[in-house]
Parts: sequence; C-alpha cells; structure tokens
Amino acid sequence: MPIHFEDQDVTSEAAGLRSALIVPCNLCPAVTVATRENRPFMRFFRSPVKSAPFEEYLKALQSRLSGKGVSTKVFRSSLYHQWFMCMWTSRRRKKLEKQAKNYDAVIVLGCDSATETVRDVVPPDVKVIEGMKTAGIMNGRMSFRLPGDLVFDDCKVVTISQQKVA
Ligand code: SF4
Repeated sequence: MPIHFEDQDVTSEAAGLRSALIVPCNLCPAVTVATRENRPFMRFFRSPVKSAPFEEYLKALQSRLSGKGVSTKVFRSSLYHQWFMCMWTSRRRKKLEKQAKNYDAVIVLGCDSATETVRDVVPPDVKVIEGMKTAGIMNGRMSFRLPGDLVFDDCKVVTISQQKVA
C-alpha cells in the first residue's frame, strides 16, 4: 500500500514568493487525499487518468497560494508511467529541470524520494518546498466497484520503522 501523508503549511513556506511550480506525485498523495475523504481513488469511466479528489485538492492549493500573491502551475503527469516520481525517466526529469528555472519555488507533493527527484534537477536558486509529510504506510483493502471505481476500504496508517541507509 502507498505512503500516507499529512499536509504541510505550504502557504506560509511560500509567503513572499511570486511564483511556484507544483509537482505532484500522482500515486501516494492522491490515494491519501481520496481515502481521508472516503471517496474513490479513481473513477475510470468519468476520468481515466485523474483522481478527482486529488484534482480538487490541487485546485484548492492553487487558490490558497493565489490568495497570497503566488502564481502557480501544476507540472502534469498524465501518463500512468509518469505517476511515480520515484521512478521518473531521464526525459521527465529533464522536462522538470527546464520548467523549474522559470519559478521561484517548486512545491513537491510526495515522499522524500519524490523530493530527491526534484532536488536532483532544480537549480540551487529555486526553493524546494515539501507540501506533504510522511505519516506512515497505509494498510487497506483495494477493491473495484461497478461501473469502474477503484476504492480503498478499511484503511489504517502503519508507522514506518526508523532505518538508516548506509
Ligand atoms: S515517489 Fe514516493 S509518493 Fe510517489 S509513488 Fe513513489 S513512494 Fe509514493
């Protein structure tokens, strides 16, 4: 099961900036938002490549930032293989590198590995803001419901053991 997140106070972190590129990982963060709202993660017949709860979350984040004077754009990953920021291709990373240069900050929605993907490519003068904080790993039951909903039921968050990597 995916990583589960808590939101960070992005608007405070972005205070005083003029622009930010929001870079979302489309798997774990989107599952987090769908499960905490008790809604389907995907509704394939309505929107085959977007999770509606996560789309609303992104819009609300953009609106809050706009209210603070920060103009934003979402770095879209529409194809399924682009969803996982921990496994992005070189081409995808290059694309982010090119776009990030035009912003004061990049807001990452994802885990530490997603942030690492971003830090590897953005210029040093572009601020990297972590929009979500890992709270644990989810344990739940994935199921399909007709006509085409993918849902996660009976979810709980399991603490991640602290582990040092050599
Ligand atoms: S980058 Fe992190 S948040 Fe995204 S799919 Fe990989 S493990 Fe999940």
